[in-house]
Amino acid sequence: QNLLLRNQTAIVTGGSSGIGQGIAIALGAAGANVVINFHGDEEGAKKTQQAVVDKGSKAIIVKGDVGKEEDVKMIFEETKKTFGELHILVNNAGIQEDKPFLEMSLEDWQKVIQTNLTGAFLCAQRAAKVFQEQGIKEEVSKACGKIIFISSVHDTIPWSGRVNYATAKGGLKMMMKSIAQELAPKKIRVNSISPGAIKTPINEHEWKDEEGKKNMLKKIPYGRIGDTEDIAQAAVWLSSDQADYITGTSLYIDGGMTLYPSFQEK
Ligand code: NAD
Repeated sequence: QNLLLRNQTAIVTGGSSGIGQGIAIALGAAGANVVINFHGDEEGAKKTQQAVVDKGSKAIIVKGDVGKEEDVKMIFEETKKTFGELHILVNNAGIQEDKPFLEMSLEDWQKVIQTNLTGAFLCAQRAAKVFQEQGIKEEVSKACGKIIFISSVHDTIPWSGRVNYATAKGGLKMMMKSIAQELAPKKIRVNSISPGAIKTPINEHEWKDEEGKKNMLKKIPYGRIGDTEDIAQAAVWLSSDQADYITGTSLYIDGGMTLYPSFQEK
């Protein structure tokens, strides 16, 4: 069996539901040990863990808020204690706190920036330090380490009523590129996946409602809402040696949402 990520260890932040859960399971199916970070939903994290084990790989769950430096430190310490080395970080944890701009409090702003942007910074920096200390082991992977940010189409499409979220994702895109430029000589690959509309708890209120679903589909030329599997398989490939020459790139997985569908001639 040709497992793309055999002998590698991955941390997935926010792995208790949705896209993070899907990615954790797919990484496990590709042979990686998986560290599933969760914030509140321990039950969800346990389900992810069981699914990874069912795929034949090892998994641990670690509670922690990615926006808190001491929690991030602990997530990486637990990883080292259990698996020794680390090869892949998937910065997936993210929240929305939607409000019209004129009503958005400083707290609404900071909460989203803290989790979606600062949390990603804290985890990426710690992972890069671990990768550098370990160095390259060619028999495991051609790269010294791989970091994937789960961004959003809203790192490029403005989103009214969600200036905190769109700003965090836009910032994430430039953070990814700047880190990629800085770490490429160390053979650390840094990329983003920018999903369009994927069926998860974050947007359940929209896709569960007939009218909401119709509105979502209007923005998707390919004519379907995405599944977590659409993102998960790309994350496996992007963290594997098959993508060894890819760094500093945003991979939009969006059924064409970024193609300005309102300009489509019918
Ligand atoms: P989700 O709500 O199912 O997942 C978010 C995860 O992040 C949850 O597991 C949650 O517990 C975790 N989390 C939240 N705050 C945290 C914190 N402080 N520390 C650690 N974990 C925390 O939604 P999802 O759609 O799976 O979202 C995952 C990522 O994908 C997010 O970054 C989101 O912005 C991004 N995204 C989702 C979509 C979509 O359509 N679903 C589109 C574009 C981008």
